[in-house]
Amino acid sequence: MRTFEHFPDVPKLACPICGTNEDSECILVGIDGTADGNNEQAQPVHTNCLRHLRYLKEKGIIYAVFQGARGET
Ligand SMILES: [Zn+2]
Repeated sequence: MRTFEHFPDVPKLACPICGTNEDSECILVGIDGTADGNNEQAQPVHTNCLRHLRYLKEKGIIYAVFQGARGET
């Protein structure tokens, strides 16, 4: 999977796992239900945050454990 050295500098765009837009390496994850031909919307996610991924083996699902909700303390 391609990685990007910088997190996109776009206002209000945050990594869904940590809830920040910290400038560090990221990947782009396709957003379910947005595929249109060869195009699909994507969400940047810090590669460092992928350590929070978990595999729900019996359901065949990979998911992330949120470390903090955006806008909340
Ligand atoms: Zn993150």
